[in-house]
Amino acid sequence: RAKKGGPSRVLLYEPYMHAEALERLSLRGDLQRALREGEFRLQYQPLVRLADGQPAGVEALIRWESPVRGFVSPVDFIPIAEEFGLIVDIGQWVLETSAVQVAKWRRDFPDLGLNVNVSGHQLVHPRFADNVMRALAIAGLPSSAVTLELTESVLMSEPDLGKSALHQLRGLGVQLSIDDFGTGYSSLAYLRELPVDELKIDRAFIARAELTAEDLALVRTIVELSQILGLRVVAEGIENAAQLAALRGLGCGYGQGYHLCRPVDPAVMPDQLARAQDGSPVGVLDHRSTA
Ligand code: C2E
Ligand code: MG
Ligand code: MG
Ligand code: MG
Repeated sequence: RAKKGGPSRVLLYEPYMHAEALERLSLRGDLQRALREGEFRLQYQPLVRLADGQPAGVEALIRWESPVRGFVSPVDFIPIAEEFGLIVDIGQWVLETSAVQVAKWRRDFPDLGLNVNVSGHQLVHPRFADNVMRALAIAGLPSSAVTLELTESVLMSEPDLGKSALHQLRGLGVQLSIDDFGTGYSSLAYLRELPVDELKIDRAFIARAELTAEDLALVRTIVELSQILGLRVVAEGIENAAQLAALRGLGCGYGQGYHLCRPVDPAVMPDQLARAQDGSPVGVLDHRSTA
């Protein structure tokens, strides 16, 4: 590391690398402060049952509005938070905050579920299962209401550690989901062994689902696979009516996407849920809400 190596080592780096290293350190400091000062917030996007348009649950999505950087996408800061070991604390904040929120909403919408994205670094933490259960206890949310989303690549990179944590959580009643399914390389054998409840088809497949027969056949295969394995299947990234119709036609159980509902601030969600309960499917609800 240049930092520890003294001046002579620093000379090994090109100036642009030095700038990049400084930028990472500064981002680390900003992320630490963000957690301390409460700069993170959550938006929620419904998971919609495609047969009747009813919201089955909501996915919590983290947002960071930095006073110095402006809006930073989780795609950009989550990997940095992982690298610097901040993701465990950030992830715990997400779990607790979303669990408290959904426990409140469940007073009016008793069957509402909560999906939370979990990083591989959280999964392999020795106290991860305890941390999850503590968040649920604080919120008074039953474990059966919660689905943890892990990406295929995370599961593949930590097959053994990951698997034991997953079995432990599953034993406690928490449900598990493979996010961005289809982009990784999990074998059928591995998939069969994993204690999962849900597959989320990556939006890269859905965005093309209206295009060719081949694309549609791929999505159909994942839907059928999930039926064979007895898993819930969720299509991500439904952006238009044609995609929605195609997925319904394939018998895909659930969907998420801008066409159904954008991620919204928590203040807006009860309205969305109430209108769905009154009979309007989520798909024809509020499209104005900001992402
Ligand atoms: P993800 O879990 O696959 O979440 C879906 C992403 O797709 C979200 O982006 C969502 O806003 C976006 N999305 C939803 N519908 C549509 C659509 O119709 N079209 C398109 N193009 N996009 C759609 P977002 O919120 O920017 O999050 C990106 C990723 O960041 C997430 O992907 C997840 O991997 C990660 N992430 C978000 N929140 C958390 C968190 O609390 N913890 C962790 N570890 N990761 C998170
Ligand atoms: Mg997700
Ligand atoms: Mg996804
Ligand atoms: Mg993703």
